[in-house]
Amino acid sequence: MMDYIIRNARIIDGTGAPATYGDVEISGSKIAAVGKIGKDNASHEIDATGLTLAPGFWDPHTHLEYTVLLDQDLNGFVAQGVTTVITGHCGSSVFPKKRLRSSMPTLGKHLEGLDWQGLRQYADLVHSRGTPLNSSPLIGNGSLRSEVIGNQDRRATPEEMQHMLGLLEQGLREGALGMSSGLDYIPSLYSDTDELVEFAKLLAKYGAVYASHTRDCSPIYAYSYHAEEVLAPADERGLHLKGVLEVIDIGKRSGARVHVAHLHTSGIIGTEMAAIRQARRQGLDISVDSIAYNVSYSIRSDTLVRHIREHSADLIDRPLDEMKKRMRHPEFRDELSRRPQLRRFISPERAGTWELSRTGNPDWDGRTVGEIAADLGKTPVEFMFERLLDEEHPVGIVPPASKVKPVPVELIDDPLIFPCSDTLGTDPEEDPYCNRYSARGFVATVRYWEMARDYGVSEEEIVRHMTSLPARRFGIWDRGVIAVGQKADIILFSPDDYRGIADTHHPFEPAQGMHWVFVNGQPILEESGRTGRLPGEVLLKKPDGGG
Ligand SMILES: [Zn+2]
Ligand SMILES: [Zn+2]
Repeated sequence: MMDYIIRNARIIDGTGAPATYGDVEISGSKIAAVGKIGKDNASHEIDATGLTLAPGFWDPHTHLEYTVLLDQDLNGFVAQGVTTVITGHCGSSVFPKKRLRSSMPTLGKHLEGLDWQGLRQYADLVHSRGTPLNSSPLIGNGSLRSEVIGNQDRRATPEEMQHMLGLLEQGLREGALGMSSGLDYIPSLYSDTDELVEFAKLLAKYGAVYASHTRDCSPIYAYSYHAEEVLAPADERGLHLKGVLEVIDIGKRSGARVHVAHLHTSGIIGTEMAAIRQARRQGLDISVDSIAYNVSYSIRSDTLVRHIREHSADLIDRPLDEMKKRMRHPEFRDELSRRPQLRRFISPERAGTWELSRTGNPDWDGRTVGEIAADLGKTPVEFMFERLLDEEHPVGIVPPASKVKPVPVELIDDPLIFPCSDTLGTDPEEDPYCNRYSARGFVATVRYWEMARDYGVSEEEIVRHMTSLPARRFGIWDRGVIAVGQKADIILFSPDDYRGIADTHHPFEPAQGMHWVFVNGQPILEESGRTGRLPGEVLLKKPDGGG
């Protein structure tokens, strides 16, 4: 393996310490020296004059658990200098078994024949196929429930609870970073607070994190879930706060470290942040991630399923296919569409702002639900039913690029905020399952850099939030800092030229300004070009939290 000496770099070490100037030596997969390094003929030399060297960036909230098996390119991440991603958020994970999120329906055929038992086998499979990035998994409570209880909307029996806890413990022993929940998604949302506290107590024992997509995280879900009420905007905000308070409660009752996923999705976070800060003052260890390029992808089969369930109690325990079968009857759809809650959920005003993507019809992509429904002489509700039943092209909805909200300054200022993309990752060449919300995977990290710099945060502090902070938070200790003995995940970039190009209309434009990216001591980006190397690993944590 080639060793490298990077000379004359401006070094931001990831701890928040002021930048220094010097050299960094990589030997094998590790950093061998930092400072002034003498001549060494065996090594490849890189003159980094004018460039900044930092630990590789982390994207601590993604859904790349399947993508790392399928897409060896992952260009959007590499071009931004991301070297490690955390996977398995929002309640859905690769353990106990392969279980695709409803937003990744076409991934299934690509995964045929790929199977694993447990996280170690999954890690072996990722290694054998090769990936440029490191990834590190959480276990989803939805996946635990799916394995043991299926999609049933009820409490776990004591036996089922023991079974799920046993599986979680197995995952933690194999090196999962913690457990995620996705409390707007079936079946994760059927875990009540007490059940989540039981899980979190086990997490506390293993020094692992409870990371939650909180209940009623976005008004979209709130409309659906609380369908008996018609909610005023203030109530939507109240529900979001309630979801955050539930995480705080779970943290306090279990002793686990807790983490709130994609906090500013609702766009209004002042009261949530106040609650989080108060909980911290009371001793709770609570962190937050936020999507720095928040293009949401909102209408999903889960929302549809909830409406059907609320409408027809006899379908509660039935598989999704059976519900969809009933949906195919026009009388049933008529009945359903008369529900005031649903009419409000898919109101003409909202339909006029929902822009479509990934419809399989190029004439529709980029136009709104309202426009297309009007063209077809249908109501938005009728149109959405048809789209949602289309297995080939389940509809994706994104807001127009101009509506993408920046991360609020009070979040950027938070001591325990990590920027993330919360994306599936995509292969723009093949494009079987990508859509314009994929822009997040090409631009979220660099957008955070740009925004935080604009807010006046120092580069050293920004880098810390993107490197050592998430690494330590999730229990990975041998990465995230430029120091002797750390794994050599290293980037060399030009801070003033580092910028994002992608948006919802040009989702696959790689970021600019990144010159070199090393993962485990090997360059995956060399003088801004890809090398084809695939040195990424699945990082499994030692269960004691120590390594
Ligand atoms: Zn989520
Ligand atoms: Zn997520």
